[in-house]
Amino acid sequence: MAKKTIMDKLVSLSKRRGIVFQSSEIYGGINSCWDYGPVGVELKRNIKEFWWRSMVFWRNDIEGLDASIIMHPKVWEASGHVESFTDPMVDCKQCKRRFRADEIEGDRCPVCGGELTEARQFNLMFKTFMGPVEDETNTIYLRPETAQGIYVNFLNVQKSSRQKIPFGIAQIGKAFRNEITPGNFIFRTREFEQMEMQYFVKPGTDEEFFEKWKATRMAWYGELGIRPQKLRFHQHGPDELAHYAKAAFDIEYEFPFGWKELEGIHNRTDFDLSRHQQFSGKDLTYFDDQTHERYIPYVIETSAGVDRTLLTVLADAYREEEIKGETRVVLKMNPKISPVKVAVFPLVKKDGMPEVALKIAADLRKKYKVFYDVSGAIGRRYRRQDEIGTPFCVTVDSQTLQDQTVTVRERDSMAQVRVASAKLREYFRDKLEF
Ligand code: ATP
Repeated sequence: MAKKTIMDKLVSLSKRRGIVFQSSEIYGGINSCWDYGPVGVELKRNIKEFWWRSMVFWRNDIEGLDASIIMHPKVWEASGHVESFTDPMVDCKQCKRRFRADEIEGDRCPVCGGELTEARQFNLMFKTFMGPVEDETNTIYLRPETAQGIYVNFLNVQKSSRQKIPFGIAQIGKAFRNEITPGNFIFRTREFEQMEMQYFVKPGTDEEFFEKWKATRMAWYGELGIRPQKLRFHQHGPDELAHYAKAAFDIEYEFPFGWKELEGIHNRTDFDLSRHQQFSGKDLTYFDDQTHERYIPYVIETSAGVDRTLLTVLADAYREEEIKGETRVVLKMNPKISPVKVAVFPLVKKDGMPEVALKIAADLRKKYKVFYDVSGAIGRRYRRQDEIGTPFCVTVDSQTLQDQTVTVRERDSMAQVRVASAKLREYFRDKLEF
């Protein structure tokens, strides 16, 4: 497969099969905004669910939170975003296109070769007004990261959950950045979703926890089903480090358009809590009742993008295989995150097969996202499911009517086995559940 065409194929598959649509398409679309369709929304929910389980459910030391998108404007002064959440921007004097100065090579417009303006710092936060009066005092921001909602709630969560350091707070939610050059489908958008976790530790133990979280997060992508050879770490050099960070590593994936960041792991020191203490005038120290020490904790952050993870899953799973002279498109993703878990088909639309198949579908639906399909040749029905990564297809045929067994066809191997219909839930349990 030519590398440059894979993205085009993913975009058109996404549209055709209801994974991702362009936002406001009937109005010509709006740059960098995307809508998740019936299949995409399930995939997105499953990715978030797997993250939530790994980070919150299955651990004793991390609590969940869902903070508001709009926060007190002082939050963004304290965090440093008002002052320094900027990218350098240049405009082409000829074609009027706009670029991030740090993303272009040379001093001419990469599209038309025209002359560029001097670089200007451009703040990436979306601004709007709260209430009916549109003036400076009512200016608020859409959050550019979910992390600040966690910092300002640090003591609320710690006290209400009676956690002791080290512990973490996890959150999934939308974030907004007025990116200068969004693009590559859902890779860089202006509205996106983050899965962030802030882990509060005693100063001096931060480096050890940083290493642990690097390993834990890299392993998570393996469990998600991403091929390890497509993942790597990238360490931020001194000129790349954000204003708050002591150390930062990105987990990168080899996208069809090159190695790019998927998740950031940052040692944010006590920067954020100290600044919020300073700007709010409230004591944000933690008291350790074992050692009787009082301190501002250090924070190790793991910050992943939901949309970028979903794009990674699609890109990593996409295969074209030659089968008997035909091309089969298949999304070989981890069955546990597949949007549709099981498709149920009656082989033909007669002899009572649809009734039996509908009963099986209704039973499986209590647990899984199930798709029922009666139309077309069975081979074509299998292919349609391969395209959206459905791991199992159950077919009711004439033998079913005699012995109550069904054919279960597996997506990757295309192998077929017979399973008693009463045992299907049991058959799928380990294969489909987290
Ligand atoms: P980049 O260098 O790509 O702009 P960043 O270093 O600013 O990213 P972080 O602030 O570390 O990104 O954000 C954490 C994660 O949030 C990223 O790894 C990515 O998965 C996601 N993310 C950030 N910006 C966007 C965006 N514009 N669109 C989609 N996801 C994003």
